[in-house]
Amino acid sequence: MLKEYDVIVVGGGHAGCEAAAAAANTGSSVLLVTMNMSTIAQMSCNPAMGGVAKGQIVREIDAMGGYSGIVSDRTAIQFRMLNLSKGPAMWSPRVQSDRWLFAQEWRLMLEKTPNVDFWQDTVVGILEEKGIVKGVKTSLGLDIKGSSVVLTNGTFLNGLIHVGQKNFGGGRAAERNSTGITEQLIDLGFDHGRMKTGTPPRVDARSLDYSKMEEQKGDINPSKFSFTDTKPLAKQLSCHITYTNDTVHDILRSGLDRSPMFSGMIEGTGPRYCPSIEEKIDRFSEKERHQIFVEPEGWNTVEVYVNGFSTSLPMDVQFNAIKRIAGFENVKLFRPGYAIEYDYFPPTQLKHTLETKLIENLYFAGQINGTTGYEEAGGQGLMAGLNASLKVKGKSPLILRRDEAYIGVLIDDLITKGTKEPYRMFTSRAEYRILLRQDNADIRLTPLSHAIGFASDERLKLVEHKRNETNKIIKHLSTSSITPEEANPYLEKLNTSAIKQKVKISTIISRPQVSLNSFIENDKNQKFGLSNFSNECLEQAEIKIKYSGYIDRERETAKKLTRLEGIKLNPDFDYSKMNSISSEAREKLSKIKPESIGQASRISGVSPSDISVLLIHFGR
Ligand SMILES: Cc1cc2nc3c(=O)[nH]c(=O)nc-3n(C[C@H](O)[C@H](O)[C@H](O)COP(=O)(O)OP(=O)(O)OC[C@H]3O[C@@H](n4cnc5c(N)ncnc54)[C@H](O)[C@@H]3O)c2cc1C
Repeated sequence: MLKEYDVIVVGGGHAGCEAAAAAANTGSSVLLVTMNMSTIAQMSCNPAMGGVAKGQIVREIDAMGGYSGIVSDRTAIQFRMLNLSKGPAMWSPRVQSDRWLFAQEWRLMLEKTPNVDFWQDTVVGILEEKGIVKGVKTSLGLDIKGSSVVLTNGTFLNGLIHVGQKNFGGGRAAERNSTGITEQLIDLGFDHGRMKTGTPPRVDARSLDYSKMEEQKGDINPSKFSFTDTKPLAKQLSCHITYTNDTVHDILRSGLDRSPMFSGMIEGTGPRYCPSIEEKIDRFSEKERHQIFVEPEGWNTVEVYVNGFSTSLPMDVQFNAIKRIAGFENVKLFRPGYAIEYDYFPPTQLKHTLETKLIENLYFAGQINGTTGYEEAGGQGLMAGLNASLKVKGKSPLILRRDEAYIGVLIDDLITKGTKEPYRMFTSRAEYRILLRQDNADIRLTPLSHAIGFASDERLKLVEHKRNETNKIIKHLSTSSITPEEANPYLEKLNTSAIKQKVKISTIISRPQVSLNSFIENDKNQKFGLSNFSNECLEQAEIKIKYSGYIDRERETAKKLTRLEGIKLNPDFDYSKMNSISSEAREKLSKIKPESIGQASRISGVSPSDISVLLIHFGR
């Protein structure tokens, strides 16, 4: 009934959508099989994209040619650049999204993508012959043939939802779970585990008293995610901030004996850095209050997301506690918070391409790999879809290194170190943060993506233009001089020391107190000729001038370490006979089968002396 496809993507979440788009846009015929066509790209939890380290991932997805950035820009209701008080390595874009528009826009973009077909059905297993995937089996009784399969089942595999002492099977609120796949993969030899996550109640904005909360507005000059011509927001909605208090905590504590978390009903491991409110009051009992972000779910809805109040306590406890929060006294609930447990597959069973080591042409991406977050899922989906497509076409894979992208850090961490709790990206996970900034994601990645036929010619042209213009600005600033008469009144206003003789403008711009923007504003007669450049290129030039020392140093370190990545290892090498390395190293190397000395050096339990032995053994 259905034709044979190059790539079958299972699941229409954030990973599945990016996988389908990437595979199709590199010329593969794609079938997206998902349980429910109406929930494509649904935001299971908070209606927001980006944030610290996650915003960088969205910029990278966009720079590669993925859709998450464009969809986020078109459906945002508020934009904020987080961490602006810190250095540019930490600047992180975040949008509040219109939940419905976000899902709708994703679906429309996929519908407009040539080569993507859709099929609404539940996959119950893969078709496999002699260790090679051949397609999928569905609950409607179809065997659909495909050269490769990308599994992106999210929180649906044997999903179990908990609200207080009630629990029931489900993949997400009001959606069925998925059975059969885990069981088959275990039979095929895969290890699996159980994780959990949770979500807060949603409430009715009409029942809230915003006068008791602090308003949190979007940026005055909002930026955007995509390097394409999407428009920044002209109008924005505000979020609000309120706090829990002692009474709220007492009520929550009174329900702990009926909490599935505390009574041991939930066995899966949850995200440590994104705890439920009951975990927060337990773990941080000394804190008198916890911040609650009151976030609208869209332009035209009264539904509100209560960020910071994730809970799986019984409904009566949730309700009694939430109405003691300032501004929530008359609250009406739309739906309670809940927790969900689901199966995942330890990602050390994957190669850098996200293809499984056990079954050829089978790829995993997203929450199924033990990650949490739309952005982490999207980044993996893009790379899995891309590599599945490249392999079908007989081309070399594209693997992003740790010094090239947060997506590279994410995948390398997952497959090398694995994860025992839901993995989310932090800037601290990246050792080359100053290289992996959100502002230069296009310069880092678009040329790589274009070279393999993914990013379009137009995107590459934009990058080349940005690079040329930035270089022009840097050249201009480092060759033009400014006199003390011209500079000192301005420097005095900024409380920075005066200059005694003519200097190059770049020496002034490199001072922390001076920004290129304020320098241009001060240059009322446009003597220094910078007003014709775009903000994007000016920002790029300023960062390069201010941080050139750090950037060069990181690039040098990265180059040295990249040499270790270049020393390839045979993944099938038998480490069990290497007596000169530690037994822990033997065990870990045999399990993870690193593809290079660089990867081997990042496996916990493999020491520098083990690496020296490997280098000698392999004649290096
Ligand atoms: C209750 C809850 C709370 C969460 N809280 C947070 C949070 O606080 N912070 C955070 O960062 N992230 C949170 N998340 C996680 C976030 O939603 C996920 O990380 C992200 O959605 C994962 O994307 P994905 O594409 O891997 O899977 P999902 O978005 O879950 O998508 C999976 C898709 O696969 C489809 N599917 C599943 N099985 C089958 C099958 N057998 N056949 C066909 N289709 C199938 C589903 O219909 C769905 O479309 C939460 C998720 C849930 C459910």
